[in-house]
Amino acid sequence: MRLILLGPPGAGKGTQAKVLVEAFGIPQLSTGDILRSAIAARTPMGLAAKAVMDRGDLVSNDIVNGIVSDRLDEADCENGFILDGFPRTIGQAEALDEMLSSKGMQLDAVVEMTADADVLVSRVVNRAKESNRPDDNPEVIRKRLDVYKKDTAPLVDYYRKQGLVRTVDGMAPVDQVTGAIKAAIGR
Ligand code: AMP
Repeated sequence: MRLILLGPPGAGKGTQAKVLVEAFGIPQLSTGDILRSAIAARTPMGLAAKAVMDRGDLVSNDIVNGIVSDRLDEADCENGFILDGFPRTIGQAEALDEMLSSKGMQLDAVVEMTADADVLVSRVVNRAKESNRPDDNPEVIRKRLDVYKKDTAPLVDYYRKQGLVRTVDGMAPVDQVTGAIKAAIGR
């Protein structure tokens, strides 16, 4: 099962990805998590990404495309994966299409998780209390929502043209969202 979870920050992509990892035995590929690990480890990539992430902008395609391409080559991705937070731009989606075809892989579905912008701001502000993420504060989350609308939302159409989009209501309780995703992908 090769899935993309698509939706604005705070829609619950990370939460659902973790549940689906357990259910399907395939890894979650979160570019945000990988970048945060690189920041914590103070690698050159982490140092380059930190300021961009802290202000809610997108890290360069070169960096994130490289992360994903390397990660897809690891053995645990052979039976599938759940992409969470990638692709985020049409350019990244095109790069992903090329990567997948060169690796002989095909996407099964793109799950669009819809969410209400006001609820997202309060969800992410609440998450900030536990997560310690410098980009989980009201100003930066609004910026990240703007970036989502401008750069990432067009991916819904991009993947609709490939017949891959399944839409679920990301505002429902976690269990119901999981059920809706499984139903949408026929599992
Ligand atoms: P996330 O954990 O997915 O919300 O990502 C947190 C931040 O990491 C984003 O606001 C971006 O700055 C950066 N990031 C994560 N994934 C990507 C991506 N695919 N393209 C560019 N920047 C990304």
